[in-house]
Amino acid sequence: MFIEIDGWMAKLRFSACHFIPDHPKCGCLHGHTYAVSVKLEGELKGEFIIDFETIKGIVNRICDRLDHKILIAEKDPRLLIRKSDSVSIEIIKSTKKYVLPFEDIMFLPTRSASAEDLCQYFTANIKKALDSNGVDNIKKITVRVDEGIGQGAGCEYEY
Ligand SMILES: [Zn+2]
Repeated sequence: MFIEIDGWMAKLRFSACHFIPDHPKCGCLHGHTYAVSVKLEGELKGEFIIDFETIKGIVNRICDRLDHKILIAEKDPRLLIRKSDSVSIEIIKSTKKYVLPFEDIMFLPTRSASAEDLCQYFTANIKKALDSNGVDNIKKITVRVDEGIGQGAGCEYEY
């Protein structure tokens, strides 16, 4: 069996900005409203696979970390990221330099800030939260991160 939550309908959303180095259009800092949809397959435990409120709480807490932030992939080999002063970070991509307030940035442990990498970030963090909540009846996690309505990236984790 599975349960499924639509991120748009269930308000598992966040707004953030990012850029994709070297992309002709997406190489400029720009924003999206994202929605995170989740499907969990597993065995029933009592009457539920998992309480909807539990999984929504987990996803919401991850969304909150990213909401209204500038998403920077700290493992992006194309970027030079360095401290500018005590409150600012310089993000340098060849001839372009962004100087951004440190407190407005969410550094992602990824190689890009694409929907695909965000999806893997969400999947890994959902799995971690399920594990630390002692959830042991889930067999497969499927996550889709939509970058606006109608386009998104999906990934799966199987136990
Ligand atoms: Zn974008």
